[in-house]
Amino acid sequence: MTYKILLTPGDGIGPEVIEQTGRVLGWFAQNRNFAFETESAPIGGIAYETLGTPEPDSTIEKAKAADAVLFGAVGGPKWDKLPFHQKPERGLLRLRKDLELFANLRPALCFDALKDASSLKPEIVAGLDILIVRELTGGVYFGEPKETTTLPDGQKRAVDTQVYTTSEIERIARVAFELARLRGNKVASAEKSNVMVTGVLWREVVTKVHAEEFPDVQLSHVLADNCAMQLVRNPKQYDVIVTDNLFGDVLSDEAAQLTGSIGMLPSASLGAKDPASGKQAALYEPIHGSAPDIAGQGLANPIACILSFAMCLRYSFGRVEDATLLERAVDKVLSEGFRTADIMQPGMTKLGTAAMTDRVLMALDALKA
Ligand code: NAD
Repeated sequence: MTYKILLTPGDGIGPEVIEQTGRVLGWFAQNRNFAFETESAPIGGIAYETLGTPEPDSTIEKAKAADAVLFGAVGGPKWDKLPFHQKPERGLLRLRKDLELFANLRPALCFDALKDASSLKPEIVAGLDILIVRELTGGVYFGEPKETTTLPDGQKRAVDTQVYTTSEIERIARVAFELARLRGNKVASAEKSNVMVTGVLWREVVTKVHAEEFPDVQLSHVLADNCAMQLVRNPKQYDVIVTDNLFGDVLSDEAAQLTGSIGMLPSASLGAKDPASGKQAALYEPIHGSAPDIAGQGLANPIACILSFAMCLRYSFGRVEDATLLERAVDKVLSEGFRTADIMQPGMTKLGTAAMTDRVLMALDALKA
């Protein structure tokens, strides 16, 4: 099977980290029988410059046709004054919307060599490997009414509405259970069923999907506030955490921060799986932005983007062993003392973007047997 991967490098350091990740793709083609075709398409500021829009239809169509999109970053000061509909970020938002990417995945993986860089004690984060699955297109950010009105006494009243339907909860629960089967086979579902009716429905639906479709996966329920506390007390008790849009926003930032630099953090956004073809829209991207302050200097840490490709191997292509191999290669490079500037520590060797990728490729060579 030949996989189709659309590369959307975007702006700033986006093209730099995508170029290096392309070298990693090449390694997997040569050494692990990984057949793929790549195509590059403009998005964000560069698309605005060349095609007059940050969200070209041609790019969106290519993304829909691809098995996965590997996205760099968009934005920069050059486009800050553009009207909202022409801003580079529109490109990413349109991709998320048109591909119906309702499931946002953020892993928190602590590499042993960086355990001292965490704000928590090393023993709490060493070996940490959890995945937050956040519902991305429903809940309180989108619910209606969403308005501010003025009351007769002159004060203002603002309303946001938390709304979830059975089908919205079912589909995110399925994503979480399916992903758990590729990892530690455990799901913790976080809501506030003690005080919110959406939380009650969330718990009921997750419990039903579990009983009917995923009885082999271990399920627990946790109140979202307790989950936030447990994440800093004993995060390693978790494997996959599934939660709604609002709680997911907070919990995923908290979990990501357990492990350190923004240059290290990958993410994925997934759509629904087509029951007939099994195809699932998917976009993989580093969490960081276009980092205009270091763009074009060969300084960017490519690891977040490289680890986004590891997520792509695991979640879009089911190549769990290859994903693990790539993560182990990154771990090896870090434990050998190689660092980019953003994660530099005393006594370590500082490398640029390409040299760091060279090291990852060398580690892959060393580990492939
Ligand atoms: P940023 O993530 O681009 O940068 C924040 C800081 O982290 C900077 O000092 C930067 O140099 C550093 N950094 C980020 N990635 C790094 C890497 N891989 N290696 C080393 N250092 C790294 O966030 P920002 O400065 O707030 O935003 C810059 C631009 O990026 C803005 O236009 C913003 O809108 C855009 N942005 C885009 C995305 C996206 O495309 N998904 C996400 C966030 C921000």
